[in-house]
Amino acid sequence: MTNTHISNPDSSGGHRTFDELIREMHIQNLDVSFSQRMKKNWKMRITRSENRRFLTIPAYLYDAPLDIKKALIAWAMLPQLGSHAKTTDCRNEKRALEKSVQQFIRCNHADHAQLYVDRLSDLSCNTIEAVYDLQDVFDTVNREYFNNELSAVLRWGRLTSGVSYQMTRKATDGTTIQIITIAGCYNHHNVPRFAIEAVMFHEMLHIKIPPYKKNGRNVIHSPEFKTAEKAHKYYRQWRIWEQEHLLNIIRNRRHLREMR
Ligand SMILES: [Zn+2]
Repeated sequence: MTNTHISNPDSSGGHRTFDELIREMHIQNLDVSFSQRMKKNWKMRITRSENRRFLTIPAYLYDAPLDIKKALIAWAMLPQLGSHAKTTDCRNEKRALEKSVQQFIRCNHADHAQLYVDRLSDLSCNTIEAVYDLQDVFDTVNREYFNNELSAVLRWGRLTSGVSYQMTRKATDGTTIQIITIAGCYNHHNVPRFAIEAVMFHEMLHIKIPPYKKNGRNVIHSPEFKTAEKAHKYYRQWRIWEQEHLLNIIRNRRHLREMR
């Protein structure tokens, strides 16, 4: 179960499809296909005779952000040399591309949370030089609104992401683990403390008021949830601030990233 709060409707950031990117990059011999069965890996087949490359990737990467799509394309287009001819540069480049894709898969594919709830340290992504200590924010909200009753594993989403979400997973020993991911755009010095507390409160409320089924549909932001959400002292301030500022932070970050 993943409850998503989308601050920015185009935050999946895909924009251009793989095919469009391949055309833009003037690549003529690469086909990308998507596999529902593939989860954490990707593979490539080359037909030597026609020198065509067929890249197969997990289906959910269809919506991956631009830099991940580019990394996969670059990986697929690496020169195919025998191991003796491979230079250190070439190996390092390959490894760096693989690392960025793997990092994305690890941080973003919800179905894999099960695999890493048993390795909790892996859950903290992009916490280096974080503006806010998520644990500190969580503790403050927990004390003020939840009588210190909630517990969760906390992590930052990608720096350019505008999506915060909460999910529930079972560890192998049967215990339930709550995971809260705060959109990376909140990890920014222009974000006021009240905003990060309010978004944390929203995600924590999903633990307190879990979704339920009604007429076969999953009700996530139920009337009860919405009423409770407004009880946060910064609720209105947060929503207004979000509308006025958050998109700018995301745009600037994406812009900077694309300039690099
Ligand atoms: Zn929500």
